[in-house]
Amino acid sequence: MRVAFVASEAFPFAKVGGLGDVVGSLPQALRKKGLETTIFIPWYWGINGYYVGEGHFNFAGGREQFGIGHLEHGGVRYVLVGLPDFARDKPYGYEDDFRRFVRFQMAVAELLRDFDLVHCHDWQAALLPLLRNLGWFPGRTVYTIHNLAYQGIWGSQDFYAWTGLPGETYYGGGLEHRGAINLMKCGIVNADAVTTVSPRYAWEITTPEGGEGLDGVLRALRWKLRGILNGIDTEYWNPATDRYLKHRYSVEDLSGKYQTRAELLAEFSLEDRPTLGVVSRFAHQKGIDLILGAVPGLMELGVNLFVLGSGDPNLERSFAWVADRHPGRITYVQGYNEPLAHRIYAGCDGFLMPSRFEPCGLAQMIAMRYGTPPIARAVGGLIDTVRHWETGFLFESMDAGGVWWGVSEFLKHPDRKQVALNGMRQDFSWEKPATEYLELYRGLVAHG
Ligand code: ADP
Repeated sequence: MRVAFVASEAFPFAKVGGLGDVVGSLPQALRKKGLETTIFIPWYWGINGYYVGEGHFNFAGGREQFGIGHLEHGGVRYVLVGLPDFARDKPYGYEDDFRRFVRFQMAVAELLRDFDLVHCHDWQAALLPLLRNLGWFPGRTVYTIHNLAYQGIWGSQDFYAWTGLPGETYYGGGLEHRGAINLMKCGIVNADAVTTVSPRYAWEITTPEGGEGLDGVLRALRWKLRGILNGIDTEYWNPATDRYLKHRYSVEDLSGKYQTRAELLAEFSLEDRPTLGVVSRFAHQKGIDLILGAVPGLMELGVNLFVLGSGDPNLERSFAWVADRHPGRITYVQGYNEPLAHRIYAGCDGFLMPSRFEPCGLAQMIAMRYGTPPIARAVGGLIDTVRHWETGFLFESMDAGGVWWGVSEFLKHPDRKQVALNGMRQDFSWEKPATEYLELYRGLVAHG
């Protein structure tokens, strides 16, 4: 069985969030089970691949050229798709994202002739199931929703100029949603199977509260939707071998964790108090503003905060401000910082994750693996991975009071070390999810 992955991120070449982790690690887990995959990603600026040639695709009456690169990482083959618009240093956040990713997919479609199955990830790959149905390439398609909040929506005026597709596909191909082009919907409608990254989220997105306007479509197509819980790369995320930690540790001996903690607190001049870590994109989804609202209460409870993240400039400014007002109690480091993230997961006593919604969430699993119990909102994949009072703490209310309650539960627990050890003993590897994906692929290809 020949399987292709198509995505906009793959760690370590491009990562903005969990999508990059998944695309970077699931193929390696599949490989251990005997399935070789090929990963197609844009050739972003700075990725060191070797050029193997060029390809062409037709777009809106013209013919466009793209470069093709190869590289291998961890035994997995990558194909890099080189379009001039991708030679920038971050994967998204540009005005022409819609246009760039439509073209990326048109280019990838030219390279998919020899695959039995194409696994497409999020809106940046959501046009491909339609292109398959239009006969651009053969094979079955799986579409995975990593985050329903980002749908790839664009105005329908100048449809042909933006998509290069015949006008009848706007309605007939499932591209239209509420008067605009919606790539997420297109992927859901056209794929042979739709998955999302936790069982709980698979249910939540069929409800008006969690459906982001697509719950009707998802309810109608529930028969082909299922949730497969993400795993984490347990070799990379391993406190016993972590390259970013000076003091390594395991479930048998936590002394390295305590040393990491002492050094982290000393380096950032934090008082010796229970310290809660945050490693997050600063987006509405993540409920970072709820932490801000809870700061006075948290200070009174006696905890420190160690926050790493960037995104929404208002939240960045606010955190810089509260950190300034609470020296010795709150540290805020702006930016994306892989080494520091590892030290926070290892060196903190608890991990705060007050998400408004959470498709799966990897950060809480990483925190548990590092013996740092998560204090998380009871939503989506957080419900599927954290057990209240046993491996972490869950709170319901989506407000500062909820955060405060979660933290006070954490402080109340008589044996936090046991909670930490319970978390470290969980199996969050890709072993089980990889088997589920493999069964799904096999089923689809066998009935193709
Ligand atoms: P999402 O994909 O919604 O951002 P997840 O919890 O699924 O959230 O995945 C987040 C991943 O990104 C984790 O690996 C986390 O460690 C990492 N991450 C998020 N923000 C930062 C940051 N500022 N610096 C380093 N790593 C980060």
